Amino acid sequence: MAALCGRREEWRFDLARLLRPFTRCLASNQPLVLASAAEIRERVPSAVALAYSEFQVCRRCRRVYWKGSHYRRMSEWIATLQAPHLRSSRSSP
Ligand SMILES: [Zn+2]
Repeated sequence: MAALCGRREEWRFDLARLLRPFTRCLASNQPLVLASAAEIRERVPSAVALAYSEFQVCRRCRRVYWKGSHYRRMSEWIATLQAPHLRSSRSSP
């Protein structure tokens, strides 16, 4: 029973992450907060600091996130997951 509860919690965690993508740190699951380019400049490659103006950071593990290629791929993947649901809800009476 305990193993089932554990799996259920893991499943809920993954589902919550899918429904609210890009809001929590992938490493520590802490909420991400907005950061300025000046704040993160020394923690990302200089090309990234120059190319992007929006950043988010994790206050626990100090990871920096920006809307690069990973963000675009994840957005496209999430859109494909949501598409069948949207189609079925439109066709229901
Ligand atoms: Zn973190």
